[in-house]
Amino acid sequence: MTLDTRDHDRGSAGLEYIYYVVSRRARGVSVGVNLNPNNACNWRCVYCQVPGLSAGRAPAIDVPRLERELAEVLERVSTPSWLEAHAPEGARRVADIAIAGNGEPTSARELGEVLEAIARQRYAAGLATTCGLTLITNGSLAHQAPVQRALERLAELGGEVWCKLDAGDDAGLARINSSATGFARARRALEHCASRCPTWVQTLVFDWNGPTLAGPALEQYCAALREVHEARTQLRGVLLYGLARPSHQPEAAQLRALSEHELQALGAEIARATGLEVRVSA
Ligand code: SF4
Repeated sequence: MTLDTRDHDRGSAGLEYIYYVVSRRARGVSVGVNLNPNNACNWRCVYCQVPGLSAGRAPAIDVPRLERELAEVLERVSTPSWLEAHAPEGARRVADIAIAGNGEPTSARELGEVLEAIARQRYAAGLATTCGLTLITNGSLAHQAPVQRALERLAELGGEVWCKLDAGDDAGLARINSSATGFARARRALEHCASRCPTWVQTLVFDWNGPTLAGPALEQYCAALREVHEARTQLRGVLLYGLARPSHQPEAAQLRALSEHELQALGAEIARATGLEVRVSA
């Protein structure tokens, strides 16, 4: 069986914490670490693909079990015969390990221990210098000291952060992400991340009675990114996504994907206004 590059089913390995997908973006196997097997998040984004999403935080993580699962999966997916049977040509390598769960991973109290377990197993599998490490976060807890220590450790391990920012004002964050904490705090969250670790802004745009990022909100979004960039942080750029997969939220039927042309035009506008690299994925 060749894993479909669109199949991001987190049950693919049949394990509690670890899953894997063949990733178009990474051109290889991306091993995922899901710290929210309870499908709980402190946000509720209208485009969220987590089935049965509930409000809450990560449960207590059984770190020894997670490490055993990771060791088993890394051994399996780095075997040449496995890669030949399951991944298409050009994607037969373990490209990265992503801490990307069915909820907000930084809400796990054991995040620091999990990073150490990943570092050990990445090294043991002989992948320490070839396999990237990414933390995908909504940034909402980046002001907390344990999360900041984890960001610093991630940087030491050569990793990077993808920090979500979908809006340019308080109303947009409330509407799109159900986040009541406002744009100023989201901007600070980005600074917390980018001042500690190489960071990409991850932005998803779509049409919901009009484009979700436009007009004064787009201007404020670009101004915030430009300021964080000019503050000599490690802000690397913007990952701009369209609506590629169906939402599991009640608003799903109201959301429409932007065309590739619209996404590219928006990406070019953000790049012009911020001076940052913008990578567009339709
Ligand atoms: S932050 Fe991620 S997991 Fe949480 S609701 Fe938004 S898309 Fe879903």
